[in-house]
Amino acid sequence: MARANQARLDLAALRHNLAHARQLAPECKVMCVVKANGYGHGALNVARVFAPMADALAVACIEEAIELRDGGIETPILLLQGVFEAQELIIASQQNFWVMVDNRQHLYWLEQTRLPAPVTCWLKIDTGMHRLGVQPEEAAEFHQRLSSCENRTGELVTCTHFASADELDKPQTTEQLALFESITADLSGPRSAANSSGLLGWPSSHYDWIRPGYMLYGNSPFTATHPNTDTLRPVMTLCSAVISIRNVASGESVGYAANWTAQRPSRIATVSIGYGDGYPRLAANGTPVLINGQRAPLAGRVSMDMITVDITDLDDVKLGDQVILWGEELPVSEVAAHAGTIGYELTTRMPARTPRVVTD
Ligand SMILES: *Cc1c(COP(=O)(O)O)cnc(C)c1O
Repeated sequence: MARANQARLDLAALRHNLAHARQLAPECKVMCVVKANGYGHGALNVARVFAPMADALAVACIEEAIELRDGGIETPILLLQGVFEAQELIIASQQNFWVMVDNRQHLYWLEQTRLPAPVTCWLKIDTGMHRLGVQPEEAAEFHQRLSSCENRTGELVTCTHFASADELDKPQTTEQLALFESITADLSGPRSAANSSGLLGWPSSHYDWIRPGYMLYGNSPFTATHPNTDTLRPVMTLCSAVISIRNVASGESVGYAANWTAQRPSRIATVSIGYGDGYPRLAANGTPVLINGQRAPLAGRVSMDMITVDITDLDDVKLGDQVILWGEELPVSEVAAHAGTIGYELTTRMPARTPRVVTD
């Protein structure tokens, strides 16, 4: 039998989560974010599901957008980081890629480049993230120049991005929203602010376009529970299998650097998945895994191709038994917390070595 590792993708869950997003903001247009290879799920796997249901898709850069077009996706695609050179505007106009304008260089290229057809633009304003976007005092000038730019077509959407919308008790999102309101009060055209946490947790951020990513893959961006995340269904299930079982005497250690020591006579299962397969190396002793649906704690350091699990308290574990590293009964964000990171990173870093297996 082949090595059992798979990242199983439940496409019905993708559709369910997108329907949930729409239901939370029924008046809004929906832009599904599929950057970074669809958060590791496979950009085409997810774009093929989203395209018929979404108003637009979003990626980080033009290479990602071209992959989708080459794969037959005809939906408009926004380049969230805009273009990196004027030449890319020509491709964007040919391929119906929408471009983010977030600095003067973008505006200059747009005004100065000869294009085969005008392009659709979004204007990004920095309301507090301080990463990308034009300054609040520049917004009116950019909006005016874009409005009259002959290389631009369609609606001019004004947008911003939240820094801490996943933390519902922090004041920053309210402050960003207030600033966005005051900046856009005199600007015509649609507005957009909400990522997943904005959509789920901040109804006043919905405006005209929502831009969910992470939640569409079935994961909650919040650390605490939230009523709007209850019905999300995880899309990715990372599975492997038990390939070895042994007894380890009290006082013996397991794995590299011997960083786990048996406190009692223990049974250790070796599972054929490691950091080379997308399981985080920094997952600490005690990180839960599911073996035959039962939780068991990681025992010993994660290797490149294997992990070791303390199954002393489990019944009847056998060679070949299925192991689930994250999925339906074990949220990826819970595993991520044991590795000092977030679920976004774990799905996004899933390597090509782990086959994606799609089920409908
Ligand atoms: C990645 C991204 C999103 C989606 O964020 P999630 O937290 O995954 O929902 C939305 N807008 C912009 C500008 C982004 O870069």
